[in-house]
Amino acid sequence: MDKNIFTEKDGNLDIIRDGTVAVIGYGNQGRAQALNMRDSGLKVIIGNRSDNYKKRAEKDGFEAYSIDKATSLCDILFLLIPDEIMKDTYENDIKPNLKKKGAIVFASGYNIAFNIIEDSKSHDILMIAPRMIGAGVRARFLTNEGFYSFVHVENDASGKAKEKLLALCKAIGTLKKGAIDVNFKQEAVLDLFNEQAFGPAFGRVLLTSIFTLVDAGYPLEAVLIEMFMSEEMSYTYHKMAKIGLVKQVNLHSHTSQYGAMSRGIKFRNLPLKEKMSEILQNIESGNFAEEWEKKSSKLKFKFLKFFATRTRINKLEQKARKNLNLKTFDIFEEEEPSAEDSEELNRLKDELKEFEEFYQEY
Ligand code: NDP
Repeated sequence: MDKNIFTEKDGNLDIIRDGTVAVIGYGNQGRAQALNMRDSGLKVIIGNRSDNYKKRAEKDGFEAYSIDKATSLCDILFLLIPDEIMKDTYENDIKPNLKKKGAIVFASGYNIAFNIIEDSKSHDILMIAPRMIGAGVRARFLTNEGFYSFVHVENDASGKAKEKLLALCKAIGTLKKGAIDVNFKQEAVLDLFNEQAFGPAFGRVLLTSIFTLVDAGYPLEAVLIEMFMSEEMSYTYHKMAKIGLVKQVNLHSHTSQYGAMSRGIKFRNLPLKEKMSEILQNIESGNFAEEWEKKSSKLKFKFLKFFATRTRINKLEQKARKNLNLKTFDIFEEEEPSAEDSEELNRLKDELKEFEEFYQEY
C-alpha cells in the first residue's frame, strides 16, 4: 500500500454498507468485532457450531447460522476461530461456500504466512490483526479510544480490497488509534517473537529475581508484591506507552533512577541478542510453525503445561495468594497426561526429561 499508517479519515464505510458481514467464531475477538461492526451500522451475522458460543450470539441479538451457511450468505467473512484449527474449517466449510470475489479477513497472519492455508486467488485476502485482546477491542470502541492493528491486503480479487480493508478497520474501531500496514509474515513473526523471545527471557529474569530474594530469606509475600503483585510494573508499562520509554523514568525517585541507570551495565554481556536472533531465525524459516503442526507437539505441550504447573514458584505463589486472601486459579490443577499419551511420547523421553529438569529450577 502507498502509505503505511492509517487513521479515521482514511476509511469510508460506503463501500461495504450494503453487504453482509459474517463473523465466524464468537469468542474473544469474534464477539467484540461483531458488536463493534453492528454498532457502526453494518449488517453482521454469526457462523458458529451449535453450542454455547452460538447461544451467546443469539442472546446478543445476532442471527446465527452454521459456519457453511453463514459463509454462503455473506460478502465479507471474518475468520475468528483459533489459529490451530482454522485450516480444517477453511477447507471444509469456507472455501467451497464463499462467493467469488468475496473477502476473507484474518485476525492473525499465521496460517497464510506459513502456508498452512493456501491463499485463494479468487477472493480478497485481508488481515486486520488487533494488538489488543477482545475485551479491549470492545471497551476501547465504546470509549472512542480505539486500538492499534496490523493490517494488509494479501490478494485483491475484487479490485477494491484496500478500500474494503480500510472501511472494515473503521467499522471495528481500529482507525481511531491507527492501523499499520504490516504483511502477514511480518505480523506472524512479530507476534511469535514477542511470545517466544521476549516473554520467556522476561520470565526468566522475573523468576531469577524472585528466587534471589526468597532464597536470601526475604518474606515470600513481600517479594511477590515487590516484583509484580503490586501492579506497579503494569503501571510503568502503561506509562511507557503513554509518555515514552525514556520519559517515564522521571516518574520514579532519583534514587530509583540512579540505581537502575547505573546498574544496567552489569547485565551488558549476557548473550541475549544471540539467543533472540536464533529464535527469530527459527520462526522466520517456518521451523516453529512446522513443529507446532505436528501431533506430537500437541502432546508435548500437555507435558510442558503439566511441568509448569508443578514448579516451585507455582506452589509458593499459591501459598502467598492464600495468605493474602487472593483467589487461586485452576492452572495449578493441570492434570497429569494419560498413560496413553505418555506412551506415544516415549520417543521424546530425553527431550521431555530436559524440560522437566528445566522447570524444576523454578
Ligand atoms: P477464541 O479461542 O476466542 O475462539 C473461540 C471461537 O472459535 C468460538 O466461537 C468457538 O466456537 C470457535 N471454535 C473453537 N474451536 C472450533 C472448531 N474446531 N471449529 C469451529 N469453531 C471453533 O479465538 P480468539 O478470538 O482468541 O482468536 C481468533 C483469532 O483472532 C485468531 O486468529 C487469533 O490469532 C486472533 N487474535 C486473537 C487475539 C486475542 O486477544 N485472543 C488478539 C489478536 C488476534 P465453538 O467452540 O463453540 O465451536
